[in-house]
Amino acid sequence: MLIYGKEIRDQIKDEIRREAMEIPMSMVILRVGEDPSSLSYVKGISKFAEETGVMAEIINLPENYSENKVIQCIKSLNDNPGLTGIMLQTPIPRHLNASRLVNAIDYNKDVEGIHNYNLGKLISREKGVKPATPKAVIRMLKAHNIALEGKKAVIIGRSMTVGSPLAVMMTAENCTVTICHSKTRDLQKEALNADILVAAIGKREFVTPDMVNENTVIIDVGINFDTAGKMFGDVHSKASAKAQFASAVPGGVGMITVAELFDNLSILSRKKV
Ligand code: NAP
Repeated sequence: MLIYGKEIRDQIKDEIRREAMEIPMSMVILRVGEDPSSLSYVKGISKFAEETGVMAEIINLPENYSENKVIQCIKSLNDNPGLTGIMLQTPIPRHLNASRLVNAIDYNKDVEGIHNYNLGKLISREKGVKPATPKAVIRMLKAHNIALEGKKAVIIGRSMTVGSPLAVMMTAENCTVTICHSKTRDLQKEALNADILVAAIGKREFVTPDMVNENTVIIDVGINFDTAGKMFGDVHSKASAKAQFASAVPGGVGMITVAELFDNLSILSRKKV
């Protein structure tokens, strides 16, 4: 059975709309260069902001800006008392170091929850902002009443924004977590062992029916496009059909991720008042 994210996204949207009337919330999305692959995500953020009455400004810096110049821009945003959130949109040009730039953002304005300070808090299990996509995965599971405690979770993908923080968050939810990656020896065996299988690979239809069984819950984080612009997840539709539950693509985790950014913005903005 396919599970969806729209209703969950709409609930968060209603909460943010209410909050935006009570506390000042505003964010800047910093883009360096014109990489088209991030445009639909940025548009989604702008739309969510419009619909909730939150101020979200997109700042486009030129492709050839030096790292020092981008950091200067980030510092001036850090110093702007009227601004409660900042995010750096990736991908960025190759001459820039994403980690240095993210860590130049004031951690009190880090809407993505990926500043080293906030990642440290995540590992220490302290309250605070958390990376948006892993948050969306956990929220999706809970909203569909899928119990986490004691479950075997297998995450395919160990990126710093999705797989790795999700492993920490699922461990905090009392799952027993296995994290797989491109050097994992027997991925099929690992996947078949999962009660909850999360695919965060970035390869269209990578998870095939022989990797899941009838009791598996699949969360498909992947977003891939064919040449005609049609969206596909990392999980083959036949694998999703075989599983107990599988999140839809499109219409699943991606629906919630943008909302989680605003949830983080609200946490940071509330801290300020
Ligand atoms: P990423 O940084 O490219 O990481 C991909 C991970 O997949 C890596 O850890 C890599 O392993 C692993 N991998 C690649 N090939 C593999 C293979 N053959 N076998 C096993 N593991 C393999 O990607 P990401 O940023 O985490 O994103 C993953 C996907 O999620 C993408 O499709 C992205 O567009 C999508 N995404 C969706 C949302 C959403 O809201 N739905 C948000 C963010 C990202 P190594 O570490 O060994 O290289």
